[in-house]
Amino acid sequence: MHTDFDVAVIGLGAMGSMALWQLAEDGLNVIGFEQFGVGHDRGAVGGETRLFRRMQTSRPDYTPIIDIARRQWHALQEFSSVQILTEIGGLTVGPANDPRLIAFRTAAQGAGVETETLGRKEMNDSSAANRPY
Ligand SMILES: Cc1cc2nc3c(=O)[nH]c(=O)nc-3n(C[C@H](O)[C@H](O)[C@H](O)COP(=O)(O)OP(=O)(O)OC[C@H]3O[C@@H](n4cnc5c(N)ncnc54)[C@H](O)[C@@H]3O)c2cc1C
Repeated sequence: MHTDFDVAVIGLGAMGSMALWQLAEDGLNVIGFEQFGVGHDRGAVGGETRLFRRMQTSRPDYTPIIDIARRQWHALQEFSSVQILTEIGGLTVGPANDPRLIAFRTAAQGAGVETETLGRKEMNDSSAANRPY
Protein backbone atom coordinates (compact mmCIF):
# COMPACT_ATOMS: atom_id res chain seq x y z
CA MET A 1 0.00 0.00 0.00
CA HIS A 2 1.18 3.50 -0.86
CA THR A 3 1.96 5.40 2.37
CA ASP A 4 3.68 8.53 1.08
CA PHE A 5 1.10 11.36 0.99
CA ASP A 6 1.32 15.14 0.84
CA VAL A 7 -1.80 15.69 2.92
CA ALA A 8 -4.02 13.57 5.14
CA VAL A 9 -7.56 14.82 5.83
CA ILE A 10 -9.24 13.43 8.94
CA GLY A 11 -13.03 13.53 8.73
CA LEU A 12 -14.74 13.48 5.34
CA GLY A 13 -17.86 15.51 6.03
CA ALA A 14 -18.73 18.77 4.28
CA MET A 15 -15.39 20.49 4.77
CA GLY A 16 -13.06 17.50 4.70
CA SER A 17 -14.42 15.88 1.54
CA MET A 18 -14.28 19.17 -0.38
CA ALA A 19 -10.78 19.92 0.91
CA LEU A 20 -9.66 16.45 -0.14
CA TRP A 21 -11.15 16.88 -3.63
CA GLN A 22 -9.64 20.32 -4.19
CA LEU A 23 -6.20 19.23 -2.93
CA ALA A 24 -6.32 16.26 -5.31
CA GLU A 25 -7.38 18.62 -8.12
CA ASP A 26 -4.28 20.69 -7.33
CA GLY A 27 -2.18 17.60 -8.00
CA LEU A 28 -1.38 16.70 -4.41
CA ASN A 29 -1.21 13.11 -3.29
CA VAL A 30 -3.94 12.93 -0.66
CA ILE A 31 -5.55 10.47 1.69
CA GLY A 32 -8.75 10.82 3.69
CA PHE A 33 -9.93 9.11 6.87
CA GLU A 34 -13.57 8.88 7.84
CA GLN A 35 -14.63 7.10 11.00
CA PHE A 36 -18.04 6.02 9.63
CA GLY A 37 -17.08 5.41 5.96
CA VAL A 38 -17.49 7.63 2.90
CA GLY A 39 -20.96 9.12 2.40
CA HIS A 40 -22.25 7.93 5.78
CA ASP A 41 -25.52 9.23 7.27
CA ARG A 42 -24.36 9.69 10.86
CA GLY A 43 -23.08 13.28 10.67
CA ALA A 44 -24.33 16.82 10.10
CA VAL A 45 -23.73 16.51 6.37
CA GLY A 46 -25.55 13.18 5.96
CA GLY A 47 -29.10 12.65 4.75
CA GLU A 48 -31.12 12.88 1.58
CA THR A 49 -31.12 16.66 1.10
CA ARG A 50 -29.42 19.82 2.27
CA LEU A 51 -30.25 23.45 1.67
CA PHE A 52 -27.79 25.62 -0.25
CA ARG A 53 -28.19 29.30 0.64
CA ARG A 54 -26.53 32.01 -1.43
CA MET A 55 -26.69 34.43 1.44
CA GLN A 56 -26.89 34.68 5.20
CA THR A 57 -28.67 37.72 6.64
CA SER A 58 -26.04 38.15 9.32
CA ARG A 59 -23.09 37.68 6.93
CA PRO A 60 -23.81 39.04 3.43
CA ASP A 61 -20.04 39.21 2.98
CA TYR A 62 -20.08 35.40 2.78
CA THR A 63 -21.84 35.47 -0.61
CA PRO A 64 -18.66 35.70 -2.75
CA ILE A 65 -17.26 32.67 -0.89
CA ILE A 66 -20.58 30.83 -1.25
CA ASP A 67 -20.53 31.58 -4.98
CA ILE A 68 -17.11 29.89 -5.26
CA ALA A 69 -18.60 26.85 -3.51
CA ARG A 70 -21.59 26.98 -5.87
CA ARG A 71 -19.30 26.87 -8.90
CA GLN A 72 -17.57 23.86 -7.36
CA TRP A 73 -20.90 22.09 -6.80
CA HIS A 74 -21.65 22.68 -10.48
CA ALA A 75 -18.21 21.32 -11.45
CA LEU A 76 -18.76 18.25 -9.26
CA GLN A 77 -22.17 17.73 -10.81
CA GLU A 78 -20.69 17.91 -14.30
CA PHE A 79 -17.82 15.59 -13.36
CA SER A 80 -20.10 12.99 -11.77
CA SER A 81 -22.95 13.32 -14.30
CA VAL A 82 -25.35 13.15 -11.36
CA GLN A 83 -27.76 15.95 -10.53
CA ILE A 84 -26.79 16.96 -7.01
CA LEU A 85 -27.78 20.62 -6.98
CA THR A 86 -31.32 21.78 -7.73
CA GLU A 87 -31.59 25.56 -7.72
CA ILE A 88 -35.14 26.72 -7.14
CA GLY A 89 -34.85 30.08 -5.36
CA GLY A 90 -36.07 30.76 -1.85
CA LEU A 91 -39.20 32.21 -0.35
CA THR A 92 -39.15 34.40 2.78
CA VAL A 93 -42.60 35.34 4.07
CA GLY A 94 -43.60 38.08 6.51
CA PRO A 95 -45.30 41.46 6.98
CA ALA A 96 -43.83 44.06 4.61
CA ASN A 97 -42.53 46.18 7.50
CA ASP A 98 -41.04 43.29 9.49
CA PRO A 99 -37.46 44.33 10.39
CA ARG A 100 -36.19 40.79 9.64
CA LEU A 101 -37.72 40.91 6.17
CA ILE A 102 -36.26 44.36 5.54
CA ALA A 103 -32.86 43.17 6.79
CA PHE A 104 -33.09 40.12 4.52
CA ARG A 105 -33.89 42.19 1.44
CA THR A 106 -31.19 44.76 2.23
CA ALA A 107 -28.60 42.01 2.77
CA ALA A 108 -29.65 40.22 -0.44
CA GLN A 109 -29.41 43.37 -2.51
CA GLY A 110 -26.05 44.25 -0.92
CA ALA A 111 -24.76 40.79 -1.81
CA GLY A 112 -26.03 41.03 -5.39
CA VAL A 113 -28.64 38.30 -4.90
CA GLU A 114 -31.70 38.89 -7.07
CA THR A 115 -34.91 39.50 -5.12
CA GLU A 116 -38.53 40.01 -6.00
CA THR A 117 -41.23 41.35 -3.67
CA LEU A 118 -44.67 39.83 -3.95
CA GLY A 119 -47.79 41.22 -2.28
CA ARG A 120 -50.59 39.13 -0.80
CA LYS A 121 -52.54 39.16 -4.08
CA GLU A 122 -49.56 38.02 -6.13
CA MET A 123 -48.77 35.34 -3.56
CA ASN A 124 -52.30 33.99 -4.00
CA ASP A 125 -51.95 34.07 -7.77
CA SER A 126 -50.98 30.57 -8.81
CA SER A 127 -49.18 31.83 -11.92
CA ALA A 128 -46.82 33.78 -9.62
CA ALA A 129 -46.43 30.84 -7.27
CA ASN A 130 -45.52 28.53 -10.15
CA ARG A 131 -43.08 30.89 -11.79
CA PRO A 132 -39.94 28.99 -12.88
CA TYR A 133 -36.56 30.13 -11.58
C1 LIG B 1 -29.69 18.20 11.03
C2 LIG B 1 -28.76 19.17 10.30
C3 LIG B 1 -29.20 19.76 9.13
C4 LIG B 1 -28.36 20.64 8.44
N1 LIG B 1 -28.81 21.19 7.28
C5 LIG B 1 -27.99 22.00 6.59
C6 LIG B 1 -28.42 22.54 5.34
O1 LIG B 1 -29.54 22.29 4.88
N2 LIG B 1 -27.58 23.36 4.66
C7 LIG B 1 -26.33 23.67 5.14
O2 LIG B 1 -25.60 24.40 4.48
N3 LIG B 1 -25.90 23.17 6.33
C8 LIG B 1 -26.69 22.36 7.04
N4 LIG B 1 -26.27 21.85 8.24
C9 LIG B 1 -24.94 22.24 8.71
C10 LIG B 1 -23.87 21.44 7.94
O3 LIG B 1 -24.24 20.09 7.85
C11 LIG B 1 -22.56 21.61 8.69
O4 LIG B 1 -22.27 23.00 8.80
C12 LIG B 1 -21.43 20.92 7.97
O5 LIG B 1 -21.69 19.55 7.76
C13 LIG B 1 -20.15 21.09 8.81
O6 LIG B 1 -19.12 20.51 8.07
P1 LIG B 1 -17.91 19.84 8.80
O7 LIG B 1 -17.01 19.26 7.74
O8 LIG B 1 -17.32 20.81 9.77
O9 LIG B 1 -18.53 18.67 9.71
P2 LIG B 1 -19.23 17.34 9.25
O10 LIG B 1 -19.91 17.50 7.93
O11 LIG B 1 -20.04 16.85 10.39
O12 LIG B 1 -18.00 16.35 9.02
C14 LIG B 1 -17.15 15.92 10.04
C15 LIG B 1 -16.74 14.50 9.70
O13 LIG B 1 -15.62 14.12 10.49
C16 LIG B 1 -15.77 12.77 10.87
N5 LIG B 1 -14.92 12.56 12.02
C17 LIG B 1 -14.97 13.19 13.22
N6 LIG B 1 -13.99 12.76 14.02
C18 LIG B 1 -13.28 11.83 13.29
C19 LIG B 1 -12.15 11.03 13.58
N7 LIG B 1 -11.54 11.09 14.76
N8 LIG B 1 -11.71 10.19 12.62
C20 LIG B 1 -12.32 10.13 11.42
N9 LIG B 1 -13.40 10.86 11.09
C21 LIG B 1 -13.88 11.71 12.02
C22 LIG B 1 -17.26 12.66 11.15
O14 LIG B 1 -17.69 11.31 11.13
C23 LIG B 1 -17.86 13.48 10.01
O15 LIG B 1 -18.12 12.71 8.85
C24 LIG B 1 -27.07 20.97 8.94
C25 LIG B 1 -26.65 20.35 10.14
C26 LIG B 1 -27.47 19.47 10.80
C27 LIG B 1 -27.01 18.83 12.10
